Order: sequence, then structure tokens, then C-alpha cells
Amino acid sequence: MAETLVKVDLSQPATTNEKVHNRWHPDIPMACWVNPGDDFILETYDWTGGFIKNNDSADDVRDVDLTTVHYLSGPVGVKGAEPGDLLVVELLDIGAKQESQWGFNGFFSQKNGGGFLTDHFPLAQKSIWDFEGMFTKSRHIPGVRYAGLIHPGLIGTLPDPKMLENWNTREQKLIDTNPTGNLANPPFAGTAHMGSLKGEARDKAAATGARTVPPREHGGNCDIKDLSRGSKVFFPVYVDGAGLSVGDLHFSQGDGEITFCGAIEMAGWVHMKVQIIKGGMAMYGIKNPIFKPSIIAPAYNDYVIFEGISVDESGKQYYLDVNVAYKQACLNAIEYLKKFGYSGAQAYSILGTAPVQGHISGVVDVPNACATLWLPTQIFDFDINPNASGPIKHIDGSIDMPISQDK
Ligand code: ZN
Repeated sequence: MAETLVKVDLSQPATTNEKVHNRWHPDIPMACWVNPGDDFILETYDWTGGFIKNNDSADDVRDVDLTTVHYLSGPVGVKGAEPGDLLVVELLDIGAKQESQWGFNGFFSQKNGGGFLTDHFPLAQKSIWDFEGMFTKSRHIPGVRYAGLIHPGLIGTLPDPKMLENWNTREQKLIDTNPTGNLANPPFAGTAHMGSLKGEARDKAAATGARTVPPREHGGNCDIKDLSRGSKVFFPVYVDGAGLSVGDLHFSQGDGEITFCGAIEMAGWVHMKVQIIKGGMAMYGIKNPIFKPSIIAPAYNDYVIFEGISVDESGKQYYLDVNVAYKQACLNAIEYLKKFGYSGAQAYSILGTAPVQGHISGVVDVPNACATLWLPTQIFDFDINPNASGPIKHIDGSIDMPISQDK
């Protein structure tokens, strides 16, 4: 049995756990050390450290302090790993914690976090998803049940001081172009949890510790649903020992994590194995991680596919804007699902959580980019295919997702 090197107690605050951190900084001490070839288990909190509860109110989604996220387990030091190497991480298995067989999905209030479709869903809402082994369903969204494609939303290596400075500088430059625009999240010492660092050393590192929100060169918060159990990731190494951290586990997620809070978020564990490729970064020309997919994936192979172009819902023309195009594909899918009786919120939550595929279909045909959203038909209890007799209202509207008014 592989050793569990990081344990988390869900009844205790994440900030009391010295093998957990919520910023990126090279001074964060390694939580443990392993040898190349070792396999081991890390337990993790959900990304909010347990703030979101299994209940029928969205008040917690409305009120969450987003400077506290994400709580990551690690860093794990790998003996012999040096800057310029590749750290090979095989995700042998991933699961929910035994005492926590559920997850959450939600949309943030526009006043605290917002999200991809926040103009259409400006208030906090939440759905709870119960796990039945490899399957999940929600008491807030009838008519769907599907197999999990379990993955870490966030996994990466520690930056060196130069890379950290580069991140903070370039992100601050962007913030300066529109300081109230929420374009990026600068370091914030107040709620920084720097693992086992204490006192002055903690304060110094907390002042410049990079927030965990964006994906960066080291991996980080990529939210790639296909980094699932059985996949193998090759990370750049910047510091001695590499410093591998993981968290933000998802039971399932649609491409884009469009609901932002987030996929089906859960507390759980990751069983992994590490190897090193000496000098691998230069050998393979690696700047960002690469990965090999799992041989295991849910076999949904029939879809209704929605197209979107870079013309927004007000009719404004954008130039080859993939973000606008994907948004339109999502809105088109939501309108379609409403014809079967779903509320807009329920449809949005399905797109954020189910194994939905998003594709960039065309980026050269000026002025319109084209994006597609692939909605699997086999996750529904009823037929969602279009036909001449029209959609049947299978969902009667008696159940909806909890919603919370702004305070
Ligand atoms: Zn997440």
C-alpha cells in the first residue's frame, strides 16, 4: 500500500495544516521528500478549504473569500530533481474522501468573483452532486446522471525567484491597464498560507507569493478535464526538488470550467508516481507542461454539437475572438436545454460539470472565430436529439438550484 504523505482532516481548517499552502513561492518548505520511482498518496481539501457546504443554500458561494484559495497539498520534493529537468507525474488513481462522497458546482455573484456568463447569471447559485461510486447525480438538477472523469484542476511545480518575479511583474502590468477591472489577482499577504513557514520568513514570502488562480508555465490552475486518472504529465522543474503540489480536485468538468465555482469540486486523494528526465526541458523544447492522456475515459460518443461565432448576444462584431465564440456556443446550448424544461441555471450547471467537449473550430476566417460545444446525449434520462415533433418537456420546473440575493 502506498504511503499517504499528506493527510487532511476535513473537520479542521486548512490553514492549520502545515503540508497545505495557497500561494506559489520558492521559499515554501517541502512538505515531504520522495525518490524517483516512488508512488505515494496526497490527500487534499476542496479548493475552498471546506467553505462550501452540502446544503440547499448558495449563501456560502456568495460569501466565500476568494483571496483564500486554492488550498494545495505539498510541495513534494523529489530527490535529484534540478532546474531544467522534467518531472514526470503519473496520476495512478484519484478519488473522493470516504467521509465526503459529494461535490459542489456553482456560479459566483457578479459582486464577488463573477464568471464566464455572469451577465446572464449575476447571483450566486449552487448545485450539490452526490457520488454513487463512479457516477454522480444532483438533487438540484433532475434528468442527468453520468460517470466521473476525475482529475486535479490544479497541479504544478514551484517557481524559482526569477520566474515568480516575472509572473508578478507581467500580471501587475495588466492590472495597471484597468485597476478596477479584475483583470488579474496580485499577491495578497493577509490570507496567504505558506505551509510550515512561520514568522518573518512567512511574512516576507507572503508579500510576493503568487496567487494560484491562473495557469502558468509550471502548470498550476489549468482545469484540464483530461488530466484524469491514468494520465501522465511532464512538468518543467525550476527549483531543486521540483516541489510538486496538487489540489482543486474535480469529480467531473466540462471543457472551459465555464461555471467558475467551479467543476464538481471535491475533497479527495491523489495516488501518484514520479520520475525525472534529466535535462528534459531543453531536450524537448518544453516551456509549458505536456501530458499523455489516460487509456480510461467515459465512453460517451454521441453528441448534439452547438456552434458559436464571435458575434456577441447584442449583435456586436468581434475579430476572431474565441472567447466570444465559445460563450455563444454555450448560450446556444442553454437555450436548447431550456426547451426540455430546465431552468437556465440548471442548463448552465450541466455544461460546467458534465463531460462536455469544447473545440476551437476555426480561427482564420475573418472576422469570425468559430467554437463548438459538444453536449453528450447519453448523460440524459431522455432523448435530447432534435426531430420534427419538437422537444418534450421532461423537466417540470418543480426543482431548481438554490439562489442567493446579494447582501
Ligand atoms: Zn476547481
